[in-house]
Amino acid sequence: MDQQFPNDQIFVAGEWQKGRGAEIRSDFAAEGTENTVISGASADDVDAAIERAKAAQAHAGWSGLKPHERASYLYRISDGITANIERIAWVQSRDTSKTLTETRALATSAAATFRYFGAVLETSDDLLTAPRGAYQTLSVYEPLGVVAAITPWNSPIASDAQKVAPALAAGNAVVLKPASWSPLVSLELARIVEEAGLPRGLFSVLPGSGREVGNRLVEHPDIAKVSFTGGTSTGRHLALAAARKLMPVSLELGGKSPTIVFEDCDEDLAIAGILFGIFSSSGQSCIAGSRLFVQRSIYDRFVARLVEATNRLRVGHPFDAATQVSSLVHPDHRESVEDYVRLGLDEGAELLTGGTRPDAPELTNGAFYAPTILAGVSNTARICREEVFGPVLVVMPFDDEADVIAQGNDNDYGLACGIWTRDYPKAMRVGHAIQAGTVWINTYKQFSISTPFGGDGDSGIGREKGRSGLRAYQRQKSFYTDLSGQPHPWARWPADD
Ligand code: NAD
Repeated sequence: MDQQFPNDQIFVAGEWQKGRGAEIRSDFAAEGTENTVISGASADDVDAAIERAKAAQAHAGWSGLKPHERASYLYRISDGITANIERIAWVQSRDTSKTLTETRALATSAAATFRYFGAVLETSDDLLTAPRGAYQTLSVYEPLGVVAAITPWNSPIASDAQKVAPALAAGNAVVLKPASWSPLVSLELARIVEEAGLPRGLFSVLPGSGREVGNRLVEHPDIAKVSFTGGTSTGRHLALAAARKLMPVSLELGGKSPTIVFEDCDEDLAIAGILFGIFSSSGQSCIAGSRLFVQRSIYDRFVARLVEATNRLRVGHPFDAATQVSSLVHPDHRESVEDYVRLGLDEGAELLTGGTRPDAPELTNGAFYAPTILAGVSNTARICREEVFGPVLVVMPFDDEADVIAQGNDNDYGLACGIWTRDYPKAMRVGHAIQAGTVWINTYKQFSISTPFGGDGDSGIGREKGRSGLRAYQRQKSFYTDLSGQPHPWARWPADD
């Protein structure tokens, strides 16, 4: 495996060049060491990328391509990712401290995303709509222009692909801004896109701060849409900026997703799914099942078994294949998780397990945090309402369906929900009643690129993935073509007097 970090160059509309903005440091938080430092983009780099992207997008060599021709670029990018999975996984694991097992899966999913949107493009049709007169009506889909994609640090290659693939397929140019803690893997994607022969100018990767690079992107008059994944407060800020420009915006934001365990569930299935739902990715997952509701009749036994299973999880180095829970992305982020656990305890929570940094000597330099379970607080406590984005689960009892629906929905977020029961009609009733973009029944955190994904409430606006994911990067135009060959009667022309 080629274990080199990318050079100190950013990808500005097809040109590799040194960024003119502030330095960005990429750390390997699992070992407390520095990976590399790169020069980030400046506002001038953003302007240059957008100017060239606009020209490249308008060129018939891109916007005029037939769907199957444009799809061929996406297939080549997919092949390029597949050929480089080990390298991408290594870079992303170094950047984010995620396990190699997980980053390999994320790279595989990114390759599948490019392939999928190539196929969607090839099989999507414009619409011949029903006329109400002697004319033909056609509704066609056109690209928006230059799209900004802004992504977070927790699953960068997969988040990047979810935006870049449909936006390029739809005929746009894309300027991608990855998060400052994880700039490297997006630069790897740029190399692969370049090798796939995408016409120059259509794709840029501009690592940099949200304040300088992100703001400039969002406010630039030639950005036609922003597709954002990240925190709710940043999303709200972007939505306000978009409103000023009357620009469409897609927002994939945070979550505080309820997992509901009914007394009639298969308890072993539920325990395995709950562990995966909250503690995989060290809980740094928007869809983490971070609020657990257990039916009161089985609460004590079930929670005791869950704690026992949690204590068996293997916390360790991300390159160790046995590791289930790796380091958090950054020591600063661990401090924020620790602050939340302290807050929960101050609110009266009881610590059932975790709540500490692991004391194994080989982990002390890393930003590790033990899988943690809190109980004994009501759903109104801040630890139950706010996103921790770490390996912290809060457990609460409930009495019946109505009670758990009320508690589950008593939260500003609406991203996901897990339901564990053998009663399928009950699962469907509860699933329909819960505010969430995704409901998992007797499973959790499973994903298919064919299935739309997104949140409601403070979890966002819009959906990604699925066939309709392409349409999020297009505008519709309608054509009326006369078939009668007759002048409009209202005009009474040509005059016959
Ligand atoms: P963040 O909001 O701090 O940053 C996300 C991106 O926005 C980064 O690239 C950042 O630099 C940029 N940004 C920050 N301020 C900006 C500004 N003023 N203008 C433009 N861009 C700006 O989020 P994060 O800490 O990187 O990621 C964690 C958050 O992302 C969590 O809340 C998590 O739930 C959410 N997330 C959501 C999903 C989803 O699909 N719903 C998926 C993954 C992560």
